[in-house]
Amino acid sequence: MKTDFLIIGGGAIGMTSAIALLEAGYKITLVERAATGGEASWAGGGILSPLCSWDYTDAVTRLTQRSMGMFSDAAALLYESTGIDPEYQQSGMLLLPPFQDDRAATWCAEHKVILRHAALDEYLPGMSGSGLFMPEIAQVRNPRLLQALRRRVEMLGGAILEQHEVQNFEIRGDRITGLQTSKGSLSADAYVLAAGAWSRSLLGEHAMGMDVRPIRGQILLFKFDAPPFPNILLQEKLYFIPRRDGHVLVGSTLENVGFDKSTTAEARTDLLQRVQALFPDWPAPVRQWAGLRPGSPDNIPTISRHPHLANLYANCGHFRYGVTMSFACAELLLGEIEGRPQPFDVREYRWRE
Ligand SMILES: Cc1cc2nc3c(=O)[nH]c(=O)nc-3n(C[C@H](O)[C@H](O)[C@H](O)COP(=O)(O)OP(=O)(O)OC[C@H]3O[C@@H](n4cnc5c(N)ncnc54)[C@H](O)[C@@H]3O)c2cc1C
Repeated sequence: MKTDFLIIGGGAIGMTSAIALLEAGYKITLVERAATGGEASWAGGGILSPLCSWDYTDAVTRLTQRSMGMFSDAAALLYESTGIDPEYQQSGMLLLPPFQDDRAATWCAEHKVILRHAALDEYLPGMSGSGLFMPEIAQVRNPRLLQALRRRVEMLGGAILEQHEVQNFEIRGDRITGLQTSKGSLSADAYVLAAGAWSRSLLGEHAMGMDVRPIRGQILLFKFDAPPFPNILLQEKLYFIPRRDGHVLVGSTLENVGFDKSTTAEARTDLLQRVQALFPDWPAPVRQWAGLRPGSPDNIPTISRHPHLANLYANCGHFRYGVTMSFACAELLLGEIEGRPQPFDVREYRWRE
């Protein structure tokens, strides 16, 4: 079957890219080395916002704000069309001290984001002091979002090839002519690289100045009969994400350890100590996992055509916020492919030579 695009990588980014291209009328085949939705996109927390937005540049804010604005409708459409509920909910996020009160207030006022001071014991009975509450911040449940995305790709007519590891690019002149995979060669008119943390190493010398490297994150999972609180909690870099069924994710670490996805006793001890400082009565965690974020300088992804290979595009390097940014990045990728006007200045997402 002739395909217009081969998309490399079946995470949130590869699958939202596939959906945007399919909806625009292209034929796509998604090539995934294992099973779709098994790497960083599965391991992540599913908070649909930067942790402290005021810590990031405008290039991050533009993408996250636009994508956050698209998520509610996108999640509803996924649920309606696939029958799989990504559990999108505007649970709000409560910031516990210490925090940068003035910076947060200024940033929120500038970006029209609701922020209010809150007495902590209204949210967490028995806890004294005051916090900051951001009621609009939402979350999704990653494994369900990924199942729904996959189903939607199939429903729109996209082909998914799992257990196909892309090993090499066949190049002639300024074009890619095919992909060598663990199951033979594949070719298309154009190619989209969405291989997360593996994007740069897969391209080798052709990655040029694209700086994407794995940054490990570990999470502890707790289980209660019902959610112990309704809102996401954030204390400095430690977050708690309550799911509807009583699971609470607590994370995460930021570790530069290459492509090592193992969990460690040190991370468990460190996270547990911080949990117990806030909630001394909590039970032991029921699970621990790790994922490799596609780390990039200043958390700015590359969404662009290759500087020299005319039929290669990238959508990678979303670092800490790939789930949050996914729908807007897919929109930008389509705009780049079709040469259409973009919703904002996209120069900072260009592929670096
Ligand atoms: C602990 C943790 C917490 C996080 N929390 C959040 C959060 O709360 N909110 C948020 O927005 N983001 C969060 N993130 C970040 C987010 O998960 C990532 O930015 C996002 O998942 C990146 O998506 P991706 O599709 O690019 O990468 P991935 O999901 O890693 O997908 C890449 C895919 O490419 C495939 N692949 C790689 N090499 C090849 C090859 N050679 N051939 C074929 N296929 C290949 C892989 O198997 C994989 O399936 C978190 C991440 C972690 C690890």
